[in-house]
Amino acid sequence: IAFESTRVATIKSSPSMAVSVAAKAMRAKGEHVVDLSLGEPDFDTPDHIVQAAIEAMRKGLTRYTAPDGLVELREAIVAKFKRENGLDYAMDEISIGNGAKQILFNAFLATLEPGNEVVVPAPYWVSYTDIVILHGGIPKIVPCGVEDAFKITAARLEAAITPKTRWFLLNSPSNPTGAIYTADELKALGAVLARHPHVAIMSDEIYEHIVCGDVPFTSFVVACPELKDRTLIINGVSKAYAMTGWRLGYAAGPRELTRALNKLQSQSTTCPSSITQFAAAAALNGPQDFATTAVAEYKARGELVARGFSAIPGLDVRAPEGAFYLFPKCAHYIGKTAPDGARISNDTELASYLLSEGKVATVPGAAFGVEPYIRLSFATSRDNLAIAIERTADALAKLR
Ligand code: PLP
Repeated sequence: IAFESTRVATIKSSPSMAVSVAAKAMRAKGEHVVDLSLGEPDFDTPDHIVQAAIEAMRKGLTRYTAPDGLVELREAIVAKFKRENGLDYAMDEISIGNGAKQILFNAFLATLEPGNEVVVPAPYWVSYTDIVILHGGIPKIVPCGVEDAFKITAARLEAAITPKTRWFLLNSPSNPTGAIYTADELKALGAVLARHPHVAIMSDEIYEHIVCGDVPFTSFVVACPELKDRTLIINGVSKAYAMTGWRLGYAAGPRELTRALNKLQSQSTTCPSSITQFAAAAALNGPQDFATTAVAEYKARGELVARGFSAIPGLDVRAPEGAFYLFPKCAHYIGKTAPDGARISNDTELASYLLSEGKVATVPGAAFGVEPYIRLSFATSRDNLAIAIERTADALAKLR
Protein backbone atom coordinates (compact mmCIF):
# COMPACT_ATOMS: atom_id res chain seq x y z
CA ILE A 1 0.00 0.00 0.00
CA ALA A 2 1.26 3.52 -0.74
CA PHE A 3 0.62 5.22 2.59
CA GLU A 4 1.85 8.67 1.65
CA SER A 5 -0.56 10.69 -0.47
CA THR A 6 0.74 12.59 -3.49
CA ARG A 7 -0.10 15.76 -1.58
CA VAL A 8 2.13 14.86 1.37
CA ALA A 9 4.84 13.59 -0.99
CA THR A 10 5.21 17.16 -2.31
CA ILE A 11 6.63 18.45 0.99
CA LYS A 12 9.68 17.67 3.15
CA SER A 13 10.22 17.38 6.89
CA SER A 14 11.48 20.47 8.69
CA PRO A 15 15.24 20.68 7.92
CA SER A 16 16.13 22.56 11.12
CA MET A 17 14.52 19.78 13.16
CA ALA A 18 16.59 17.24 11.18
CA VAL A 19 19.89 19.00 12.05
CA SER A 20 18.90 19.16 15.69
CA VAL A 21 18.12 15.41 15.68
CA ALA A 22 21.58 14.71 14.18
CA ALA A 23 23.21 16.91 16.85
CA LYS A 24 21.32 15.12 19.61
CA ALA A 25 22.40 11.73 18.21
CA MET A 26 26.06 12.86 18.33
CA ARG A 27 25.59 14.02 21.91
CA ALA A 28 24.08 10.68 22.82
CA LYS A 29 27.37 9.11 21.66
CA GLY A 30 29.21 11.33 24.14
CA GLU A 31 30.37 14.06 21.73
CA HIS A 32 30.29 17.68 22.87
CA VAL A 33 28.16 19.43 20.25
CA VAL A 34 27.20 23.11 20.41
CA ASP A 35 23.72 23.16 18.92
CA LEU A 36 22.93 26.43 17.15
CA SER A 37 20.29 24.84 14.95
CA LEU A 38 17.03 25.42 16.80
CA GLY A 39 15.13 28.68 17.12
CA GLU A 40 14.04 28.16 20.66
CA PRO A 41 14.56 30.40 23.73
CA ASP A 42 16.86 28.68 26.24
CA PHE A 43 15.09 30.31 29.20
CA ASP A 44 12.45 28.63 31.36
CA THR A 45 8.86 29.83 31.07
CA PRO A 46 8.36 32.54 33.75
CA ASP A 47 6.98 31.17 36.98
CA HIS A 48 3.77 33.21 37.12
CA ILE A 49 2.78 31.65 33.77
CA VAL A 50 3.50 28.13 35.02
CA GLN A 51 1.51 28.91 38.18
CA ALA A 52 -1.48 30.02 36.10
CA ALA A 53 -1.44 26.67 34.32
CA ILE A 54 -1.21 24.74 37.59
CA GLU A 55 -4.08 26.76 39.01
CA ALA A 56 -6.20 26.07 35.92
CA MET A 57 -5.60 22.34 36.34
CA ARG A 58 -6.34 22.40 40.07
CA LYS A 59 -9.58 24.27 39.43
CA GLY A 60 -10.60 21.63 36.90
CA LEU A 61 -10.47 24.03 33.95
CA THR A 62 -9.41 21.11 31.85
CA ARG A 63 -12.19 20.82 29.33
CA TYR A 64 -12.69 21.68 25.67
CA THR A 65 -12.95 25.36 24.97
CA ALA A 66 -14.72 27.04 22.06
CA PRO A 67 -12.70 26.70 18.83
CA ASP A 68 -11.98 30.41 18.84
CA GLY A 69 -10.63 30.12 22.38
CA LEU A 70 -11.43 31.12 25.93
CA VAL A 71 -13.00 34.53 26.34
CA GLU A 72 -10.25 35.34 28.89
CA LEU A 73 -7.56 34.62 26.30
CA ARG A 74 -9.22 36.50 23.46
CA GLU A 75 -9.68 39.49 25.77
CA ALA A 76 -5.99 39.29 26.65
CA ILE A 77 -5.07 39.20 22.93
CA VAL A 78 -7.35 42.15 22.10
CA ALA A 79 -5.79 44.05 25.03
CA LYS A 80 -2.27 43.17 23.85
CA PHE A 81 -2.91 44.63 20.38
CA LYS A 82 -4.30 47.79 21.96
CA ARG A 83 -1.56 48.18 24.59
CA GLU A 84 1.49 47.24 22.56
CA ASN A 85 0.53 48.22 19.02
CA GLY A 86 -2.28 50.74 19.45
CA LEU A 87 -4.47 48.54 17.24
CA ASP A 88 -8.19 47.95 17.73
CA TYR A 89 -9.50 44.46 17.08
CA ALA A 90 -12.88 43.07 18.07
CA MET A 91 -13.19 39.74 19.88
CA ASP A 92 -14.38 38.00 16.71
CA GLU A 93 -11.40 39.26 14.72
CA ILE A 94 -9.10 36.97 16.71
CA SER A 95 -8.19 33.35 16.05
CA ILE A 96 -5.96 31.07 18.09
CA GLY A 97 -4.12 27.87 17.26
CA ASN A 98 -1.61 25.33 18.49
CA GLY A 99 1.30 27.65 17.74
CA ALA A 100 1.70 30.34 15.12
CA LYS A 101 2.64 27.50 12.80
CA GLN A 102 -0.86 26.07 12.97
CA ILE A 103 -2.37 29.49 12.32
CA LEU A 104 -0.28 29.74 9.15
CA PHE A 105 -1.40 26.23 8.23
CA ASN A 106 -5.05 27.09 8.87
CA ALA A 107 -4.81 30.39 7.02
CA PHE A 108 -3.46 28.81 3.84
CA LEU A 109 -5.83 25.85 4.09
CA ALA A 110 -8.75 28.24 4.54
CA THR A 111 -7.90 30.55 1.65
CA LEU A 112 -5.81 29.00 -1.11
CA GLU A 113 -7.33 27.70 -4.32
CA PRO A 114 -5.15 25.46 -6.51
CA GLY A 115 -2.64 27.56 -8.42
CA ASN A 116 -2.89 30.64 -6.18
CA GLU A 117 0.47 32.30 -5.70
CA VAL A 118 2.03 33.45 -2.45
CA VAL A 119 4.86 35.98 -2.65
CA VAL A 120 7.56 34.90 -0.19
CA PRO A 121 10.76 36.93 0.19
CA ALA A 122 13.76 34.61 0.65
CA PRO A 123 15.44 33.74 2.89
CA TYR A 124 12.18 32.63 4.50
CA TRP A 125 11.28 30.59 7.55
CA VAL A 126 11.56 26.92 6.54
CA SER A 127 7.90 26.04 6.93
CA TYR A 128 6.30 28.78 4.82
CA THR A 129 6.83 27.27 1.40
CA ASP A 130 5.97 23.70 2.37
CA ILE A 131 2.74 24.80 4.02
CA VAL A 132 1.80 26.78 0.90
CA ILE A 133 2.60 23.83 -1.40
CA LEU A 134 0.67 21.41 0.81
CA HIS A 135 -2.45 23.48 0.26
CA GLY A 136 -2.11 23.67 -3.50
CA GLY A 137 -0.48 27.11 -3.62
CA ILE A 138 2.62 28.16 -5.51
CA PRO A 139 5.32 30.01 -3.56
CA LYS A 140 6.63 32.91 -5.63
CA ILE A 141 10.07 33.27 -4.11
CA VAL A 142 11.87 36.61 -4.28
CA PRO A 143 15.55 36.26 -3.32
CA CYS A 144 16.84 39.03 -1.01
CA GLY A 145 20.42 38.28 0.02
CA VAL A 146 22.84 40.01 2.36
CA GLU A 147 23.51 42.55 -0.44
CA ASP A 148 19.83 43.61 -0.13
CA ALA A 149 19.99 43.76 3.68
CA PHE A 150 17.73 40.67 3.42
CA LYS A 151 14.66 42.78 2.57
CA ILE A 152 12.28 42.87 -0.37
CA THR A 153 11.95 46.26 -2.07
CA ALA A 154 8.77 47.83 -3.41
CA ALA A 155 9.96 47.31 -7.00
CA ARG A 156 10.65 43.62 -6.48
CA LEU A 157 7.31 43.12 -4.77
CA GLU A 158 5.55 44.87 -7.64
CA ALA A 159 7.34 42.61 -10.14
CA ALA A 160 6.36 39.46 -8.22
CA ILE A 161 2.61 40.18 -8.08
CA THR A 162 0.43 38.58 -10.78
CA PRO A 163 -3.34 38.20 -11.16
CA LYS A 164 -2.94 34.83 -9.37
CA THR A 165 -1.31 36.29 -6.24
CA ARG A 166 -3.40 35.57 -3.16
CA TRP A 167 -1.00 36.51 -0.34
CA PHE A 168 2.15 38.45 0.37
CA LEU A 169 3.94 36.85 3.33
CA LEU A 170 6.10 39.12 5.41
CA ASN A 171 8.20 38.23 8.48
CA SER A 172 9.77 41.01 10.52
CA PRO A 173 11.86 40.58 12.65
CA SER A 174 12.98 37.78 10.39
CA ASN A 175 13.88 34.19 10.91
CA PRO A 176 16.55 33.40 9.58
CA THR A 177 18.19 36.80 9.03
CA GLY A 178 17.29 38.96 12.05
CA ALA A 179 16.32 41.80 9.68
CA ILE A 180 13.63 44.28 10.76
CA TYR A 181 11.71 46.42 8.27
CA THR A 182 11.51 50.10 9.18
CA ALA A 183 8.13 51.85 9.15
CA ASP A 184 9.12 53.61 5.91
CA GLU A 185 10.09 50.35 4.24
CA LEU A 186 6.74 48.86 5.23
CA LYS A 187 4.92 51.93 3.90
CA ALA A 188 6.71 51.55 0.56
CA LEU A 189 5.54 47.92 0.36
CA GLY A 190 2.07 49.04 1.44
CA ALA A 191 1.92 51.54 -1.42
CA VAL A 192 2.48 48.68 -3.89
CA LEU A 193 -0.10 46.48 -2.20
CA ALA A 194 -2.64 49.30 -2.21
CA ARG A 195 -2.55 49.11 -6.02
CA HIS A 196 -3.33 45.37 -5.96
CA PRO A 197 -6.55 44.91 -4.00
CA HIS A 198 -6.67 41.16 -4.73
CA VAL A 199 -3.57 40.52 -2.58
CA ALA A 200 -3.92 39.85 1.15
CA ILE A 201 -1.02 40.32 3.56
CA MET A 202 0.12 37.83 6.14
CA SER A 203 2.44 39.53 8.62
CA ASP A 204 4.28 37.08 10.86
CA GLU A 205 5.24 39.20 13.86
CA ILE A 206 6.21 36.41 16.25
CA TYR A 207 9.62 37.98 17.02
CA GLU A 208 8.03 41.36 17.79
CA HIS A 209 9.63 41.66 21.23
CA ILE A 210 13.06 40.39 20.30
CA VAL A 211 14.71 43.55 19.03
CA CYS A 212 18.47 43.69 19.46
CA GLY A 213 19.61 46.59 17.26
CA ASP A 214 18.59 50.19 16.70
CA VAL A 215 15.64 49.60 14.36
CA PRO A 216 12.41 49.45 16.38
CA PHE A 217 9.73 46.89 15.55
CA THR A 218 6.75 48.22 13.59
CA SER A 219 3.67 46.14 12.99
CA PHE A 220 2.67 46.07 9.31
CA VAL A 221 -0.82 47.32 10.19
CA VAL A 222 0.58 50.23 12.20
CA ALA A 223 2.66 51.29 9.18
CA CYS A 224 -0.17 50.66 6.69
CA PRO A 225 -3.51 51.11 8.53
CA GLU A 226 -5.32 51.41 5.18
CA LEU A 227 -4.51 47.71 4.58
CA LYS A 228 -5.85 46.49 7.93
CA ASP A 229 -8.94 44.97 6.31
CA ARG A 230 -6.80 42.58 4.25
CA THR A 231 -3.96 41.85 6.65
CA LEU A 232 -3.68 38.89 8.98
CA ILE A 233 -1.22 39.55 11.80
CA ILE A 234 0.28 36.35 13.18
CA ASN A 235 1.89 36.25 16.59
CA GLY A 236 2.23 33.87 19.53
CA VAL A 237 3.68 33.27 22.96
CA SER A 238 6.48 30.84 21.98
CA LYS A 239 9.32 33.29 21.51
CA ALA A 240 8.28 36.24 23.70
CA TYR A 241 7.61 34.17 26.83
CA ALA A 242 9.83 31.11 26.26
CA MET A 243 6.75 28.93 25.71
CA THR A 244 7.63 26.91 22.60
CA GLY A 245 6.37 23.63 24.03
CA TRP A 246 3.04 25.02 25.25
CA ARG A 247 1.85 25.55 21.66
CA LEU A 248 -0.17 28.72 21.45
CA GLY A 249 -0.28 31.15 18.55
CA TYR A 250 -2.83 33.81 17.70
CA ALA A 251 -3.88 35.97 14.80
CA ALA A 252 -5.88 39.12 14.19
CA GLY A 253 -7.50 40.01 10.93
CA PRO A 254 -10.71 40.57 9.01
CA ARG A 255 -13.75 38.88 10.53
CA GLU A 256 -14.58 36.83 7.45
CA LEU A 257 -11.10 35.29 7.58
CA THR A 258 -11.00 34.62 11.33
CA ARG A 259 -14.44 33.02 11.00
CA ALA A 260 -13.05 30.64 8.37
CA LEU A 261 -10.02 29.89 10.56
CA ASN A 262 -12.22 29.15 13.55
CA LYS A 263 -14.49 26.92 11.47
CA LEU A 264 -11.44 24.93 10.40
CA GLN A 265 -10.22 24.70 13.98
CA SER A 266 -13.61 23.33 15.03
CA GLN A 267 -13.12 20.43 12.61
CA SER A 268 -9.44 19.76 13.33
CA THR A 269 -7.93 20.16 16.81
CA THR A 270 -11.12 21.71 18.30
CA CYS A 271 -8.98 24.09 20.36
CA PRO A 272 -5.49 24.44 21.80
CA SER A 273 -5.09 22.90 25.26
CA SER A 274 -7.29 24.73 27.77
CA ILE A 275 -4.41 24.75 30.27
CA THR A 276 -2.13 26.43 27.75
CA GLN A 277 -4.83 28.98 26.99
CA PHE A 278 -4.98 30.00 30.67
CA ALA A 279 -1.20 30.18 30.78
CA ALA A 280 -1.08 32.32 27.61
CA ALA A 281 -3.67 34.72 29.05
CA ALA A 282 -1.47 35.05 32.16
CA ALA A 283 1.55 35.69 29.92
CA LEU A 284 -0.18 38.45 27.96
CA ASN A 285 -1.88 40.08 30.97
CA GLY A 286 0.91 39.66 33.51
CA PRO A 287 4.20 41.44 34.19
CA GLN A 288 6.28 41.91 31.05
CA ASP A 289 9.68 42.15 32.76
CA PHE A 290 10.73 38.70 31.51
CA ALA A 291 10.80 39.95 27.93
CA THR A 292 12.97 42.90 28.93
CA THR A 293 15.51 40.68 30.72
CA ALA A 294 15.56 38.11 27.93
CA VAL A 295 15.95 40.75 25.24
CA ALA A 296 18.90 42.38 27.05
CA GLU A 297 20.57 38.97 27.03
CA TYR A 298 19.76 38.33 23.32
CA LYS A 299 21.20 41.75 22.54
CA ALA A 300 24.48 40.94 24.26
CA ARG A 301 24.61 37.57 22.51
CA GLY A 302 23.78 39.14 19.15
CA GLU A 303 26.69 41.54 19.55
CA LEU A 304 28.97 38.68 20.60
CA VAL A 305 28.15 36.50 17.57
CA ALA A 306 28.15 39.38 15.09
CA ARG A 307 31.62 40.39 16.30
CA GLY A 308 32.94 36.83 16.54
CA PHE A 309 31.71 35.59 13.17
CA SER A 310 32.63 38.84 11.37
CA ALA A 311 36.21 38.27 12.51
CA ILE A 312 36.32 34.89 10.71
CA PRO A 313 37.85 35.46 7.27
CA GLY A 314 35.51 34.79 4.36
CA LEU A 315 32.20 35.12 6.22
CA ASP A 316 29.95 38.00 5.16
CA VAL A 317 27.99 38.95 8.28
CA ARG A 318 25.16 41.44 8.76
CA ALA A 319 24.50 42.20 12.44
CA PRO A 320 21.00 41.09 13.45
CA GLU A 321 18.41 43.75 14.24
CA GLY A 322 16.03 41.32 15.89
CA ALA A 323 15.06 37.70 16.56
CA PHE A 324 18.01 35.51 17.62
CA TYR A 325 19.67 34.49 14.38
CA LEU A 326 22.82 35.30 12.46
CA PHE A 327 22.88 34.43 8.76
CA PRO A 328 26.45 34.71 7.44
CA LYS A 329 27.11 34.28 3.75
CA CYS A 330 29.81 31.68 3.21
CA ALA A 331 30.49 31.81 -0.57
CA HIS A 332 34.25 31.95 0.13
CA TYR A 333 34.25 28.37 1.42
CA ILE A 334 32.20 26.75 -1.32
CA GLY A 335 34.42 24.71 -3.65
CA LYS A 336 37.09 24.17 -0.97
CA THR A 337 38.37 20.80 0.19
CA ALA A 338 38.16 19.32 3.69
CA PRO A 339 41.17 17.61 5.38
CA ASP A 340 39.71 14.18 4.43
CA GLY A 341 39.71 15.17 0.75
CA ALA A 342 35.94 15.76 0.45
CA ARG A 343 34.92 18.75 -1.63
CA ILE A 344 32.46 21.23 -0.06
CA SER A 345 30.19 21.95 -3.00
CA ASN A 346 27.30 23.77 -1.29
CA ASP A 347 26.13 25.17 2.05
CA THR A 348 24.44 21.90 3.04
CA GLU A 349 27.83 20.17 2.81
CA LEU A 350 29.46 23.05 4.67
CA ALA A 351 26.95 22.73 7.53
CA SER A 352 27.60 18.94 7.66
CA TYR A 353 31.33 19.61 7.76
CA LEU A 354 30.93 22.14 10.59
CA LEU A 355 28.95 19.54 12.52
CA SER A 356 31.37 16.63 12.00
CA GLU A 357 34.64 18.60 12.18
CA GLY A 358 33.75 21.53 14.45
CA LYS A 359 30.93 19.92 16.45
CA VAL A 360 28.81 22.99 15.80
CA ALA A 361 25.25 22.42 14.53
CA THR A 362 23.94 25.04 12.07
CA VAL A 363 21.27 25.02 9.37
CA PRO A 364 22.29 25.55 5.72
CA GLY A 365 20.91 28.51 3.78
CA ALA A 366 19.37 26.06 1.28
CA ALA A 367 16.72 25.28 3.90
CA PHE A 368 15.65 28.93 3.77
CA GLY A 369 15.65 29.30 0.00
CA VAL A 370 19.00 31.07 -0.55
CA GLU A 371 22.56 29.79 -0.90
CA PRO A 372 25.32 29.81 0.24
CA TYR A 373 24.63 30.80 3.84
CA ILE A 374 24.47 29.17 7.25
CA ARG A 375 22.00 30.07 10.00
CA LEU A 376 23.17 30.22 13.59
CA SER A 377 20.68 30.59 16.42
CA PHE A 378 22.09 32.53 19.36
CA ALA A 379 19.39 31.39 21.76
CA THR A 380 22.07 29.69 23.84
CA SER A 381 24.56 30.76 26.50
CA ARG A 382 27.39 33.19 25.79
CA ASP A 383 29.83 30.45 26.84
CA ASN A 384 28.42 28.12 24.19
CA LEU A 385 28.55 30.89 21.62
CA ALA A 386 32.20 31.64 22.39
CA ILE A 387 33.03 27.94 21.91
CA ALA A 388 31.04 27.87 18.66
CA ILE A 389 32.91 30.89 17.27
CA GLU A 390 36.28 29.34 18.07
CA ARG A 391 35.39 25.93 16.67
CA THR A 392 33.85 27.38 13.50
CA ALA A 393 36.96 29.50 12.88
CA ASP A 394 39.22 26.47 13.40
CA ALA A 395 37.14 24.18 11.17
CA LEU A 396 36.88 26.75 8.36
CA ALA A 397 40.63 27.45 8.56
CA LYS A 398 41.27 23.79 7.71
CA LEU A 399 39.49 24.09 4.35
CA ARG A 400 41.83 24.41 1.38
N1 PLP B 1 7.04 32.02 12.49
C1 PLP B 1 8.38 32.08 12.54
C2 PLP B 1 9.08 33.07 11.71
C3 PLP B 1 9.10 31.20 13.36
O1 PLP B 1 10.44 31.27 13.39
C4 PLP B 1 8.40 30.24 14.12
C5 PLP B 1 9.11 29.25 14.94
O2 PLP B 1 10.28 28.97 14.79
C6 PLP B 1 7.01 30.23 14.03
C7 PLP B 1 6.37 31.12 13.20
C8 PLP B 1 6.17 29.22 14.78
O3 PLP B 1 6.06 29.45 16.12
P1 PLP B 1 5.04 28.64 17.02
O4 PLP B 1 4.36 27.65 16.18
O5 PLP B 1 5.88 28.01 18.09
O6 PLP B 1 4.11 29.66 17.60
